[in-house]
Amino acid sequence: MKQKETLSTTPLKEQHIDLSNLLIEEMGDEHKASSVETPLRADAFDTTDEEKIAAIAPHFKAIMEILGMDLRDDSLKGTPLRVAKMYVKELFQGLNPANMPSMTLFENKFQYNEMLVEKNINFYTNCEHHFVPFFGKAHVAYISSGKVIGLSKLNRLVEYFSKRPQVQERLTMQIGKALQTVLQTQDVAVMMDAKHLCVSSRGVKDDSSNTITSFYGGKFQEEQKKMEFLKYIDINE
Ligand SMILES: [Zn+2]
Repeated sequence: MKQKETLSTTPLKEQHIDLSNLLIEEMGDEHKASSVETPLRADAFDTTDEEKIAAIAPHFKAIMEILGMDLRDDSLKGTPLRVAKMYVKELFQGLNPANMPSMTLFENKFQYNEMLVEKNINFYTNCEHHFVPFFGKAHVAYISSGKVIGLSKLNRLVEYFSKRPQVQERLTMQIGKALQTVLQTQDVAVMMDAKHLCVSSRGVKDDSSNTITSFYGGKFQEEQKKMEFLKYIDINE
C-alpha cells in the first residue's frame, strides 16, 4: 500500500508510468490479496514462462487421458503443449505485472476538461470458476486532471487485465483503479457488458442474459456525470 501512496502523491516527472511495482506491492506484505487483487501466490513468478509451459503440458495431457482420449491420434497429440503455450503466452499472460503495457501520458494542451469516453472496447477473458470465456464490450471514461493518455492505451489496459482468470466484478475494478493511478485522478468510470459461456453453454444454458458491472470514481459518483456517461455509451441502468 505504501508504494501506491508514494506514487499518487509524487508529482509526475517522467511521462512513463510503470504500474508493475505498484500492482505487486498492492498485494501487501503478507501477499494476502484483497478482493480487488487477483489472488496470486508469493512464488507466482519464480518460474519462467518456458518452465511453466513445460510443467503444464503433462498435466493437461493427463486430463485428456483420464477423459479417455487417445493421445496417439495425430489430431490430439499436439494439444497438451498447444494449450500450455496458449495459457502462459496468451490467455493468462496478464497475470505477470511484467506484461503490463507502458502507459504514456501527455500534457492536456487543449485544456479539454470534459469527459472523454472510449466505448465499445472488445474484450475476451476467462471465468476463473470454470476456465471458459466471457467476453463483451468495455466502456471507459475519465475527466482529465491535466494529463491525457493515448486512446489505444485504454484498450491495452482493458486487454491486460482481461488476460487473467477473472470474475467480471474484479476485472471492472482493476481497470478502474489502474486508470485512476495512471491518470492521477479519481474521476474515472468503467462499465463492462459481457456474455459468460459458463452461463450460456452449460449450467442453466441461458443464451440471452448479459452481465453488466460498473465502476464510478470521483465526479462520476455524481448523478449528473453518471447520466452523461450512460447517455454517451447508450446503456440504461
Ligand atoms: Zn464461470
